[in-house]
Amino acid sequence: MLNNIFKNKFPFAYNYFSTLLEFVEKKERKFPQAIIFEGADTKMQYLFALELARILNCQKDKQDDCDCINCKWIKTHSHPAINNVSQIHFKGEDDESKTIISAKQAKEIEKSLMLSSDYHRFFIFFSSREKEYKQNELEYFEKLNYSADINFSIEPLNYNTFHPTMPNALLKSIEEPPENTTFVFLTKSREDILPTIVSRCLVFKLSGLKDNLKFDEIIPLIQNYPNIDYANAFDISLNFQNYMKETNKPLDNLLNEFLEYLVSLMKQNIDNNAFYQKINNDISITNEMIKYSKANINDKIVLDTLFLRISRGY
Ligand SMILES: [Zn+2]
Repeated sequence: MLNNIFKNKFPFAYNYFSTLLEFVEKKERKFPQAIIFEGADTKMQYLFALELARILNCQKDKQDDCDCINCKWIKTHSHPAINNVSQIHFKGEDDESKTIISAKQAKEIEKSLMLSSDYHRFFIFFSSREKEYKQNELEYFEKLNYSADINFSIEPLNYNTFHPTMPNALLKSIEEPPENTTFVFLTKSREDILPTIVSRCLVFKLSGLKDNLKFDEIIPLIQNYPNIDYANAFDISLNFQNYMKETNKPLDNLLNEFLEYLVSLMKQNIDNNAFYQKINNDISITNEMIKYSKANINDKIVLDTLFLRISRGY
């Protein structure tokens, strides 16, 4: 359902939402009513939000090239239930504010929620001004067959984006929205958004390889983490062994780097209980194996054991 572009860009959010969307389709779980995306690439966050909205509203097979009316509308930025909210979007008739998201906009949202809707409604909050794009600036929109014909910028929210009274005016809508309504806030960091809003949202750090430059040697060795199964545990072990041969890096150094990587992932996923537990568990396994690596046990045995245990979870 979700395009592989996101698997590379935001591996954790990709896994989380892919699974969640399947449950939502089977009506076994609800889609969250308020989400914060934080990270460096706001345009990509926006596209990710649109794709989630598209999959939730699709009337056919949810594929990239679906031609149902909902998919078509979303890809041409004209869906009646997918709303941008910014300094220049979703303004009521009597709202003359141009440089902030105003409290009147919160009222406008409240009013629109009183009308019933057959769609899964989205309100995507970001900072925006009029903008003309250069060629290729919206390359990912084009890759996913979205119209790149837009004339507004997509920038992260911060404290200055909102009128001081706006977030409080919005709380009621966020807390008790009608069924099938989702608020998404795009930002660099949750610290740029009022805590009263943050506490009502699921926060996802949308970071990909680019944000993990420090670990650019480890990541290719364990591409599928956290999805390691019995079959690829040995391949990953072999990747590590080959890497050690190439670089002459001792095993305990390499394992300490892996550990550091796991800790950084854990920090990014503090609000994501399932991943948090999984990574926490893998950290204990890795710590234990670091002890073995210092005890003159054969490197291959340590690495095989490490990844087999990670694949099993104990
Ligand atoms: Zn569709």
